[in-house]
Amino acid sequence: MSLSSADQLQRFSFDDTPIRGEIAHINESFREVLKRHQYPAHISKVLGELMAATALMSASLKFKGRLTLQIRLPGNISLLQAETSDQGELRAIARYDVDQPESELVFEDGHLVMTIEPEQGQRYQGIISINAGNVAAALEDYFTQSEQLPTRFWLSANADSAAGLMLQKLPSQQTEADVDAWDRISHLASTVRPAELLELETEELLHRLYHEEVLRLHPAAALCFKCTCSRPRLADALHQLGYAELASMLAESAPISITCDFCQQHYEFSQADVDGLFPERNLH
Ligand SMILES: [Zn+2]
Repeated sequence: MSLSSADQLQRFSFDDTPIRGEIAHINESFREVLKRHQYPAHISKVLGELMAATALMSASLKFKGRLTLQIRLPGNISLLQAETSDQGELRAIARYDVDQPESELVFEDGHLVMTIEPEQGQRYQGIISINAGNVAAALEDYFTQSEQLPTRFWLSANADSAAGLMLQKLPSQQTEADVDAWDRISHLASTVRPAELLELETEELLHRLYHEEVLRLHPAAALCFKCTCSRPRLADALHQLGYAELASMLAESAPISITCDFCQQHYEFSQADVDGLFPERNLH
C-alpha cells in the first residue's frame, strides 16, 4: 500500500459462516496525530495500534456516537487513548511524564476501558484489568470477559502508518455446517506478518490469506483525523464554571487561553467573550 492510499475501514465476510472481519488502514490520520505531538517511538507505535483497534471496533456502532479505548497504566506512561466516531473520525492522545517516559511500555497492572457514547441515550463503559503483552491481547481478553463473542485482533504500526485486522464470530441461530470455520479462518489470519498488514492493499491481503475461502468484500468506509473540540464547546465548558470564576481567571491573566490537548488548536476568550457568555448579567 502506498503512503498516499486513503485511510479506510473495510468489512469482509465468509459465505455460509457467521464469521465477519474488518481491515483498517490508518496512514494520514495517524500522521496527523504524530504531527501534533513528539511521542517517543515506542509510545506512538502502541497509539497507532490503539487507533487501528478503535477503527475496527467502530464498525459495530449501530448509532450516531463515539467509541473510545483507553489503556490506563500505573507508571510514567499513564494513558493511551484513541477515539473513533460512527463517521470514521479519529483522534488519539498519550499522556506520559515527558522528562521520564519509561523506555518500554509494559502492559501490567493496568486497565483497558472501553466507552461507547451515543449522541442520544445512555453511555456504556466496560473495564477490565490488563496483564496481557500488547493491545491485541488486551482486547481479546476484553471480548472474552465481557462480550462473549469470539474475537481476534492483529494490529501493527510503524513510524507513520497503522493497520489492523479483526475477526469476529457472531451468534448464529442455524446449526453450523462448517464447524471448523472459526479455527481455520483465525489460524489463517495469524499467519499475517506485521509488514503485510501495513503494506498490502486490503484485497491483496485477503487474497493471500483466504484464496481458498468464499469471501465477500463489503464497501469500504473512509476514516479521517478529526478532533471534537470547538469554540462553542469550550464556551459551554467555561460557562459551567460560572462568571465569578471566569472573572478571577481574567484578573490573573487575560485573555483566558486554552489549547486542546488532542489537536493543539489554540482558543482565547477575552473579557468581552466572557461577558457574551452571560447575557443576563448585562441586563442589570
Ligand atoms: Zn481539538
